[in-house]
Amino acid sequence: MNKPFAITLDVRSSLANHTGMWRSERPVYTAGLPPCQHACPAGEHVQAWLYAAEDGSYESAWRRLVQDNPFPAVMGRVCYHPCETACNRAELDSAVGINSVERFLGDRAIDAGWRLPDAAPATGRRVLVVGAGPCGLSAAYQLRRLGHEVHVHDAGEEPGGMMRHGIPTFRLPRDVLDIEIARLADLGVTFCMNSKVTDLRETMRAGGFDAALIAIGAQLSRRAYLPAGQASRVLDALSVLGSVADGERPGLGRAVVVYGGGNTAMDAARTARRLGADDAVVVYRRTQAQMPADRQELDEALAEGVRIKWLRTIAAVGEGSLTLEKMTLDEAGLPQPTGEFEELAGDAVVLALGQDVDRSLLDTVPGLRVVDGVIEVDEAMMTGSPGVFAGGDAVPTDRSVTHSIGHGRRAAVAIDSWLRRQDPPAQRQERDPVPYSGLNTWYYSDAPRSVRPRLEAARRTDTFGEVVGGLDEDTALFEARRCLSCGNCFGCDNCLGVCPDNAVIKLDGANHYAIDLDYCKGCGLCAAECPCGAIEMVPEES
Ligand SMILES: Cc1cc2nc3c(=O)[nH]c(=O)nc-3n(C[C@H](O)[C@H](O)[C@H](O)COP(=O)(O)OP(=O)(O)OC[C@H]3O[C@@H](n4cnc5c(N)ncnc54)[C@H](O)[C@@H]3O)c2cc1C
Ligand code: SF4
Ligand code: SF4
Repeated sequence: MNKPFAITLDVRSSLANHTGMWRSERPVYTAGLPPCQHACPAGEHVQAWLYAAEDGSYESAWRRLVQDNPFPAVMGRVCYHPCETACNRAELDSAVGINSVERFLGDRAIDAGWRLPDAAPATGRRVLVVGAGPCGLSAAYQLRRLGHEVHVHDAGEEPGGMMRHGIPTFRLPRDVLDIEIARLADLGVTFCMNSKVTDLRETMRAGGFDAALIAIGAQLSRRAYLPAGQASRVLDALSVLGSVADGERPGLGRAVVVYGGGNTAMDAARTARRLGADDAVVVYRRTQAQMPADRQELDEALAEGVRIKWLRTIAAVGEGSLTLEKMTLDEAGLPQPTGEFEELAGDAVVLALGQDVDRSLLDTVPGLRVVDGVIEVDEAMMTGSPGVFAGGDAVPTDRSVTHSIGHGRRAAVAIDSWLRRQDPPAQRQERDPVPYSGLNTWYYSDAPRSVRPRLEAARRTDTFGEVVGGLDEDTALFEARRCLSCGNCFGCDNCLGVCPDNAVIKLDGANHYAIDLDYCKGCGLCAAECPCGAIEMVPEES
């Protein structure tokens, strides 16, 4: 041996010495909480399905995804993707296009005809779900998977709730929605359409139901008092969007004014442009920074020629024109009238001022409490009436399809416990999501985010066809591979390569590695060099 000792070891020759007894800390492979998962209101295990998609195992990825959410193709179109806002990759270059990959998987499943896994053996329990919107459908799906008999009653002709009657087809084509809902019927969920429930306890008694979920949404459009002449046309956004969703094409005139600042206002204004309005103007009493509409929805509306009048209220509506009052913000950021007025042309005014929950059904449920217009529920989503649960827009929440799907899933778990006479599962101890500082980003190469194709703005106003396209396979794969796998081992072999004691053992299957504690001396190199922060050094018990 004529070389220095330290660099002359033959491969695995370090195994001649058991070094483990020197150790004061040992490495442990952990499964951290990725920020994307933490932020997803539907509770999707985003990192897990992205990981499956990364090697082209799209069906496995879809199967992992639908454990939590049965509507990937819908989500990939309408979710406001808070997961991407939380994504650690945003600090490196730009967030992973999680929503685009989700849509790719959803569309791939539709093309390939993948079916949901069969339901568990029948439990003999029956659950009534009132409302076939995203909350009711998500709950029905999860309950059916668990083997319960589920009947979904809905007042409408077709299931989907606001996904069908609110969100316009240029954002969510109905064939996509139909296919994802049809899978639930294939799984054995029973749909009772045109079936408005007016007395919950009586419907439960007549149908022999053991538990019920109220998922009736917020269907009543809020009105505002507007001094208006006889000939003025004042409509509400839900009626306009609902009739367009039913295939009607109501004429709103050449100049349409939409009153409100949320996503419904954006949809109404974009719809007005497609119905022939040369001028669609959104009147909002606050500033852009205070607007509740999603930024992307605002940008799409602006791209389609929608104008916004910030800091304005409607003072009066006349025939063919409106009077607007200018507003100013006070020190608390609240809009205050200025006494200055201006005229605006408008053949119709569409109110998009929010929605309220219809209380008529709720008043028939003994013990159920309504606070501030929404149903009070406990942590397990149960109302004050034993065995009656509630979720979605009808309870205190951010109102979105994604939150409603999450509620449906959580309610289903709680209903299952109720039916089995068990306590609801303990609230999971909230862990902190893996921070960007917990990653070794040196190991990741630059990879710019993929952009989805879009219909040219000039071509949009004469079609209700979809505006945003999907990623092709190569781009979706690239996007999935941009995931940093925060806090979860992805089998890169770094720990295997850097361990000076050959103490890392490579395994087959999901647990990629184990530590051979006879040889690990606890130097911590593996933890320091793990790109995704999946190894923790834990003190040895003395
Ligand atoms: C125009 C518009 C656009 C939107 N866009 C988006 C978007 O892009 N992304 C997003 O995440 N969210 C969006 N939202 C919000 C989202 O649609 C709602 O938060 C979500 O649909 C609420 O789900 P839900 O299941 O609670 O109720 P809903 O979807 O409202 O469904 C409730 C169902 O209950 C039925 N029902 C009511 N009362 C009874 C009764 N007594 N008996 C039987 N059936 C009954 C109704 O017919 C309906 O089908 C939008 C909302 C609107 C209005
Ligand atoms: S449902 Fe929405 S928040 Fe959840 S992973 Fe999909 S895009 Fe993200
Ligand atoms: S990099 Fe991947 S695991 Fe980390 S937050 Fe983003 S999508 Fe989730």
